Amino acid sequence: MKKAIIFLLITGVFSAFYGCKKQHAYSALIVTGQNNHNWKASSRILKQLLDQTGLFSTDIIETPAAGKDMTSFAPDFQKYDVVVMDYTGDSWSDKTKSSFEEYIKAGGGLVIYHAADNAFPEWKAYNEMIGLGGWGKRNEKDGPYIYMKKDSLITDTTAGPGGSHGKRHEFVVKVRNEEHPITKGLPKKWLHAEDELYSQLRGPGKNMEILATAYADTAQKGTGRDELVLFTVTYGKGRIFHTVLGHAGNDTTAFPAMECQGFITTFQRGAEWAASGVVTQTVPEGFPNAAGVVQLENYKPLTLEQLMRNVENYDIAKSRKYFYDLQSRIRSSDRTPATLLSFEKLIVKSLKKKSVSADAKRLLIKELSWMGSDYSISVLKDMQKETELKDEAQFALARLESK
Ligand code: ZN
Repeated sequence: MKKAIIFLLITGVFSAFYGCKKQHAYSALIVTGQNNHNWKASSRILKQLLDQTGLFSTDIIETPAAGKDMTSFAPDFQKYDVVVMDYTGDSWSDKTKSSFEEYIKAGGGLVIYHAADNAFPEWKAYNEMIGLGGWGKRNEKDGPYIYMKKDSLITDTTAGPGGSHGKRHEFVVKVRNEEHPITKGLPKKWLHAEDELYSQLRGPGKNMEILATAYADTAQKGTGRDELVLFTVTYGKGRIFHTVLGHAGNDTTAFPAMECQGFITTFQRGAEWAASGVVTQTVPEGFPNAAGVVQLENYKPLTLEQLMRNVENYDIAKSRKYFYDLQSRIRSSDRTPATLLSFEKLIVKSLKKKSVSADAKRLLIKELSWMGSDYSISVLKDMQKETELKDEAQFALARLESK
């Protein structure tokens, strides 16, 4: 009886993992395809950052190129919990714009990333969603400048262009709201890696909650004001997280602003909040403080070997992200027998290690039960002898032997 229940439970977990497409908590859509930035690199990095939380399955959609007919660009926004805008370029069709507005109004999530707040100066609803924007001939007709001076929020209707930045430099980000789910638990101040500090943004600025500012130092040709760098906007029932951080230049090897742990963590937390209204991710131990930048040089995916080391150290209470990362690599591979066997060999190697936790081994055995081959049989037979692994091993053996 007990075994049957366990079998059913495990099978249930399996169907959840493999039976349906949506195995993650949230689905995300990154919109890109035109930008005055290196959008090919930035969209790839943003996807990686979302995927690494273990919370998102992420699609990237590219619009037609600049100047081309945009009518074919008509994503089904409703399918997603959050849309991440890495786009500034040609206007969308009226139909796509209204489906986007309806999606947000009805409670969709939106992340406005860096130059996405340069987009669509003429689209009223979009400007309400972003709260503040820059460039695109924005000026006093688009709303006031909004910034902080000392500890006061200033709404400044002075005439003038919207959008500027001084030299690229490292700057201190100051948290202004320690209770918001996105910023809760972050140090009060942290040093952000070299980036553009967007300044003189202007817009309707309605329904905003300010999370963090940064002082635009006049020594760096800045405004001498505390500019808003992280904030949220409510539009209808929609939740919008706006980060002006994360400039991606055309140097294809270094993306300091996106490799900054401060950017990474706030982006990941902001995306989760936009998708759901809550943040479950913990602030990483290596989060920077005001004394120094924490930069993950040449931010790129872990090698498979590094990933396996992380899976081996899996702690069920902490995070599933490495295991999800492994799963998604297996599933997004070409899945030929040779490829699957190479994954299988790595998994078997980990299973044979005494130092690897039972939690980690149980997950790896489950993985083997669908993608394994005869290669795993003998190690699974050994696992059957271990009380903690017996049920999973028997289940996997039954599946592999019936293949
Ligand atoms: Zn930029």
